Amino acid sequence: MFEPVLTQNVQRADSEKIATYLAHGGYAATRQALTGLTPGELVEMVKQSGLRGRGGAGFPAGVKWGFMPKDPGTPKIVAVNADEGEPGTFKDRLIIECDPHQLLEGTIIASYAVGANQAYVYIRGEFYLGYQRLVQAIAEAYEHGYLGKNILDSGFDLDVSVQRGAGAYICGEETAMLESMEGKPGNPRLKPPYPAQTGLFGLPTLVQNVETLACIPHIVLRGAEWFASMGTEESKGPKIFSVSGHVNRPGNYELPLGTKLSEIIYEHAGGIRGGKQLKAVIPGGASTPVLTPEQVDIPMAFETLAKAGSALGTGAIVVMDESTCMVEAARRTAKFFAHESCGRCTPCRIGSMRLYEALERLERGAGLQDDIERALYLSDNIDARTFCPMGAALVNPARSTIQKFRPEFEHHLEHRECLVRLH
Ligand code: SF4
Repeated sequence: MFEPVLTQNVQRADSEKIATYLAHGGYAATRQALTGLTPGELVEMVKQSGLRGRGGAGFPAGVKWGFMPKDPGTPKIVAVNADEGEPGTFKDRLIIECDPHQLLEGTIIASYAVGANQAYVYIRGEFYLGYQRLVQAIAEAYEHGYLGKNILDSGFDLDVSVQRGAGAYICGEETAMLESMEGKPGNPRLKPPYPAQTGLFGLPTLVQNVETLACIPHIVLRGAEWFASMGTEESKGPKIFSVSGHVNRPGNYELPLGTKLSEIIYEHAGGIRGGKQLKAVIPGGASTPVLTPEQVDIPMAFETLAKAGSALGTGAIVVMDESTCMVEAARRTAKFFAHESCGRCTPCRIGSMRLYEALERLERGAGLQDDIERALYLSDNIDARTFCPMGAALVNPARSTIQKFRPEFEHHLEHRECLVRLH
């Protein structure tokens, strides 16, 4: 029987307060790490756990920590990516609002492991409650000696502060986030150099997502083997799946990686609302290719979804029932991405808008004869031709929806009406 760990505290009264956190074993991992383990042992432990980043890219966290320079004379930074902006995703927000000390613990341990004495949390501007709770949690952590000078007599110093973003999707990309933190427009940087070499203010920086850091205290307390015992060959540990759309019980569900998508939809989220039929599922946030009902038995893991032509992304599952117009669904996501393009490179800035326009014409029954082919052509010529991964992100939903639901697009084009809304 799986027992949630990342969300074990969130249902408790006053879960955001340090008194509640301490009453349930909070900060024991910090003590254990800072007074009983060397930074090198911690990096090795995280590598052995198999933890992969939960922000979308899935890069192995321990390997990323290992990239940070070991020279003790070089100032280093930990930058927490709390700019959760992927449509459909609301798992980091849960941790920030309801269990901010769990995030702080992960941040303290990660900072100790990579030798950083300064950490910043870059939080999405719209998360005002989360921002307030995080600021309060940081103040409490200072009062109790978990932040500041000589934490728990370990000789390790750490200061943490919070910076609010201004609501741009692209600032979830790590280098755009660093630019924004430096007070500049959120444009992605050319890589290499990677943030571990040249990050915030030119200093080596470990950028890590909220949920990834929340896993760290549990790995320290229960061990790398415990973490690696959950999941699949290439996807280890627990994961918070955000489920939204046409289900009876939308919400966050913490389950082991590798749990079948069908189990999440039909058992945990209560099945399709109104007894309707499932039509399509976005498995990992709006930027991941859509799946059909025939693919719903897939295990939710990095490798299985990649094999199926999609991606685990952030684990945000958006469920669409038979009443969904897939042309409208594609048009809506295209509009979002066209709006969120930072404008730096032409295929993304112009291509995203042309893609949206083709889909918009098709949806309202004014499609040009070659609009379906135009949308596919644009998708193929934006993908992998942009400065940052936004290019692939913006074409994935439109292209996969056309490929899998082409008759609906053709009906809109030929009959100037929606096949779904007629019934
Ligand atoms: Fe900006 Fe280019 Fe990235 Fe689009 S692909 S967000 S225009 S850098």
